[in-house]
Amino acid sequence: MAYNFGKIEGKWQKEWEKKKVFMTKDNANGKKKFYCLDMFPYPSGEGLHMGHAFVFSLGDIFARFKRLQGFNVLYPIGYDSFGLPAENAAIKNKEHPKSYTDRAIKNFALQQKAMGWSYDWSRVLRTSDPEYYRWDQWIFLQMLKNGMAYRKKAPVNYCKKCDTVLANEQVVDGKCWRHEDTNVEIKHLEQWFFKITSYAEELLSGLEKIDWPENAKKLQRNWIGKSYGAEILFEVGERKEKWPIFTTRPDTIYGVTFMVVSAQHPKLMELVTQKQKKEVEAFLKKLKSTSEKELGGMEKEGVFTGSYATNPVTKEKVPIYSGNFVLSDYGSGMVMAVPGHDQRDYEFAKKYDLPIKVVIKPKDYEVDDKTITEAYTEEGITINSGKFNDLKNKEAAEKIIDHLIKNNAGKKTVQYKLRDWLISRQRYWGTPIPVVYCEKCGIVPILESDLPVKLPEKVGFGKGNPLLTAKLWLETKCPKCKGKARRETDTMDTFVNSSWYYLRYTDPKNTKKIFESKKADYWAPIDQYVGGPEHITAHLMYIRFYTKFLNKIGLISFDEPALKYFTQGIVHGADGEKMSKSRGNVVEPLVTVKKYGADTLRITLVSLASPDNSTSWDEKIVMGNFKLLNQIYEYFDNIKFGKKDARLDSHINKAVKEITFDVENFKHNLAAIKIRKLFQYISNKKIDKKSAEAFLLMLHPYCPFITEELWHNFGNKNFISLEKWPVADESKINIEFEKEEELINRVIEDITNVKKIIADKGKEPDKLYLYVIPNEKEVYVTNLSEIEKRTGLKTKVFSVSDKGKHDPEKKSSKAKPNRPSIFLE
Ligand SMILES: [Zn+2]
Ligand SMILES: [Zn+2]
Repeated sequence: MAYNFGKIEGKWQKEWEKKKVFMTKDNANGKKKFYCLDMFPYPSGEGLHMGHAFVFSLGDIFARFKRLQGFNVLYPIGYDSFGLPAENAAIKNKEHPKSYTDRAIKNFALQQKAMGWSYDWSRVLRTSDPEYYRWDQWIFLQMLKNGMAYRKKAPVNYCKKCDTVLANEQVVDGKCWRHEDTNVEIKHLEQWFFKITSYAEELLSGLEKIDWPENAKKLQRNWIGKSYGAEILFEVGERKEKWPIFTTRPDTIYGVTFMVVSAQHPKLMELVTQKQKKEVEAFLKKLKSTSEKELGGMEKEGVFTGSYATNPVTKEKVPIYSGNFVLSDYGSGMVMAVPGHDQRDYEFAKKYDLPIKVVIKPKDYEVDDKTITEAYTEEGITINSGKFNDLKNKEAAEKIIDHLIKNNAGKKTVQYKLRDWLISRQRYWGTPIPVVYCEKCGIVPILESDLPVKLPEKVGFGKGNPLLTAKLWLETKCPKCKGKARRETDTMDTFVNSSWYYLRYTDPKNTKKIFESKKADYWAPIDQYVGGPEHITAHLMYIRFYTKFLNKIGLISFDEPALKYFTQGIVHGADGEKMSKSRGNVVEPLVTVKKYGADTLRITLVSLASPDNSTSWDEKIVMGNFKLLNQIYEYFDNIKFGKKDARLDSHINKAVKEITFDVENFKHNLAAIKIRKLFQYISNKKIDKKSAEAFLLMLHPYCPFITEELWHNFGNKNFISLEKWPVADESKINIEFEKEEELINRVIEDITNVKKIIADKGKEPDKLYLYVIPNEKEVYVTNLSEIEKRTGLKTKVFSVSDKGKHDPEKKSSKAKPNRPSIFLE
């Protein structure tokens, strides 16, 4: 029978679902637990894309592998279903986010099942369900209780035509995404923050105990950005207010020629003098967005505020500029600029014609204020530094800090780049923040027993925050005094939803508690987490932060969410570019599934490249794999079992040993090659049932449908999905066999080449004479049929000492070990 993948895949999808094959039991029956998790998807209206197909296949391969290895595997799925696209769709197409999301999820689930991903569907969750976000709100209340949630002013992007706050993604070139003619303004609003900074040190040290790729750890460290330095008190402005200014270079204090305050600093306007007001306002209007990414890539620009700051060591007065490259909540939002020794400050000084002062001299050459062409950032000896001259700069730093401490003008300190997490969003499709504003009592949290605060369904989209249009919802009673109160209309950043979902999977239907600690402690932490490169920073930082917080309040006994983590590479279009509609290089996974089957797509995705590298789509590889699966199907479908011999046994055991290692280490491209080779070896032989089953088991994580079908064709009643992964018996691996095969393969290759040369001369030989050294003769004789089959030549083997028809001694290519003389007739 031909390989009817459509029928086979449909059949096993249904069968697995009907028999609840992948439903996990908390009761392990003595098995060790294994928690395998893919980062859950945002269910967009477009359905699965190739990136999804790839990353979730990686997770599924691992989950299936661990199941076969005898672990009690938890492999759940859910939907990160709050978010901007649904809200944008509501504004543009007038479809309610809930119906948009429901539709998208339905479509997603069908596609996920078509891919053969072995989720425990009984645990599925969606973050936009009140029964889920109720616990987001509950955690918020715990944060509040523990002093971890607070409000302060922070900048937002604002469109006056939409009358609402825009996400950074909704700002396009400084304009509103809906109003191309409207410049986005920056406003300062009171917003909610989580105090993630109080965990900075733990987030840093925790990296030491988890087995993550070095690159992921490095990005986490950079984001936390710990640096050692000093906090120096500068007197600022007319009122001589003392601002603590953080610097990693106190040794350059004599080189400070100006200060830069963040353009988004809430107190900026207090520093701006009447004379400079217009100029500063014009500058602020030009700022395009609050997005840090954009700030980082922008040209450094600034404007004089009119105010000055006094250097506490030199007593010099220097001008204060406002700049677009200083973050408002790094340190105090103001930095001391040392253009002689900081390249960014140097460029700024050049641009605005500010003085440059060299205070550290290189050891082997001279620079001074006039000849300097770029900042000198290396070590050296202090100059122009008053009583701190002629010191190694590190020594000077210590002495200057001592001096500051003695004069109450500063201290040694540690600074982190990590800033508190702004969780407020002025949008509808997210978790409502569970507090009210009471005229008498101020901010009052909702009672835990009154959770969830559900999103009102009837709201208006397109003008202002939709929640402000739900009048009945908005007006409520104060939980404390029962007087009139107004609900908070900010919703939470959707990263909140994904910061603890892995714990809810361990007890997804609990209506009394966020989860049973016993269950969370049994399953979590995640043993293998798999996800996209775009989540290495934010998501992984927040999920680690939540884990540490939930650990601190006694809910769980561990404080890192994932012991191992794997990031996949990106699948580009066939042209090597990012897949995008405008480039026309998008390949839809479901189109490939329809054409060749999910099994073909799955094995193709993992054979394109090493899974952590990026790769390009290649239709030829798809077709090659499709052909392979056809051959596999045909071979096993018609199989008549034989007996195993030592050679086959050696092959199988070697493959088991190596493929097990490859799967465990995400080297799927290598495993795929070995599976193909093993098939080539067995495909023209009769093999025993045990060996055939071992082959199918190793293929199973990659191609679950075809292997399930063939497994049952062998007469097996149980599911291959729940079988046992083969274990290698290393005593059966014989290296001599392998050397022999290598030898034969090489000789066959030589013969084929000779044949080609002769064919070019118009000759068509059908006989082959091989002259080999005497002690290799047996090898060739044993493999005679293999040689004949693959070369298509009637073959005779002679030892060079035999009296044959030919005289190999006369030939230029004499027979030597591994190199027989070849004669064709
Ligand atoms: Zn707008
Ligand atoms: Zn009240």
